[in-house]
Amino acid sequence: MAEWRRYAAIQKAKRKGKKTGEESTVAEEIVVQRMSADVSGKQQKYTRIGPQEYVPFEHEEITIANIKDACKKHFRPQIEKNLICDVLAGERGPSCEKMAHIPNRKVFYIRFIKREGVEVVSDEDGSLECKEKKARYEVPQKRPASHPSPVKPSPATSKFYPKSLSIKDILRLGRVVDNKAKKILIYKFDFAHMEWSSVPLQAEFFIEEKEFATGGFRKAFKATSITEGFNKGTWVVKSYLESAVQLIKDTGQTTEEHTRKSVQMQYLARNVASQLKETIAKDKLDEYGDSFEYKSVYMGKTEDGELLTVEEFIPGDFAKFINNNGIVCEEDTMLCKKAQAFSHFTYEKSEGKVMVLDIQGSGYTLYDPEIASAEIHNEDGGYQFCTGNLAGRAIESFFEVHQCNSYCKLLKLKLRPRQHGVDIFAVRCKL
Ligand SMILES: [Zn+2]
Repeated sequence: MAEWRRYAAIQKAKRKGKKTGEESTVAEEIVVQRMSADVSGKQQKYTRIGPQEYVPFEHEEITIANIKDACKKHFRPQIEKNLICDVLAGERGPSCEKMAHIPNRKVFYIRFIKREGVEVVSDEDGSLECKEKKARYEVPQKRPASHPSPVKPSPATSKFYPKSLSIKDILRLGRVVDNKAKKILIYKFDFAHMEWSSVPLQAEFFIEEKEFATGGFRKAFKATSITEGFNKGTWVVKSYLESAVQLIKDTGQTTEEHTRKSVQMQYLARNVASQLKETIAKDKLDEYGDSFEYKSVYMGKTEDGELLTVEEFIPGDFAKFINNNGIVCEEDTMLCKKAQAFSHFTYEKSEGKVMVLDIQGSGYTLYDPEIASAEIHNEDGGYQFCTGNLAGRAIESFFEVHQCNSYCKLLKLKLRPRQHGVDIFAVRCKL
């Protein structure tokens, strides 16, 4: 405290224009130790980068923001433009958001870190300024064992970065802010053990009021998570249309069963996409180039019991290559050919039992697959997969149109004898 009082006195004197030798020297410079961006070693400490340095300090008060500003200017020649300054309490952190967090003000520990979604712009005077798109940055921190998460924790737990408030935001805080965050219980499917998590994670999302896309079965809303460990930017929350709920009932399933199956289907498609990637690597099929992938998807349940799916938002232009009725795109593009080769691969890998269809997404990231199974019902008489399963007829229709292309040949996929006489157009299409 004595140290801080001395600083306060110096700042007061400085504001009044009373500068004296030693005091003004202290106030005009701070001692800074630059540290590594991440912790390392058994002790999980940040590593010192270079010696301690005097950093010119032009501000009137020592605040976190002013320390960052001074360090940003001082170290700018040594760091990349997209890095931001973070003030640490010591060699083991944590990050400081207020001066009271700093135990020793003789030496300030700082590090430069990358922050996702931060735009670095140059001011008129040439100084750099970070404009936040997403108020978040990563701080290495272990999740306590008492808070197990059914969702795979990210390597670092996220922490909110103090947001810069606009005048509108400041005035808004003067009124009661409505709590519009929606609580969703998140259930994860563990594909390796083929079982669902029994302990859900409760996550809170701000969900946009208007959907950004509607399919034949579901509406998709963009959402932002405000829950630690489930915060990766924009998410997509999909809810069923009323007509779809009825259709699911008609097939003798509950909405929960259908939701679980649709998540399981994405994991099945994801697994086969990984197998294709492995085949490319193992057989050194460099000519194949990139292959498709599917991201994780979770089942969500609201407090009202509504069933949802929650998945990462995939930016970019949507494209559909193959419908759930097996009708394939006939464009002569690389992605279209790879989409057909992928569906053909899924059929062969499953020894003709199923085919992944509804190949759609953005670039090489696919989502919302459907599975067509050779048999529509399982041995117990239950409905296999989801209501978009158009079974053998969809598989037939795929092979009616599909001509094995260069990617099928690279994967050494077998040709399948054609079977005619199936009226695939009599089948209701999902979209
Ligand atoms: Zn083929």
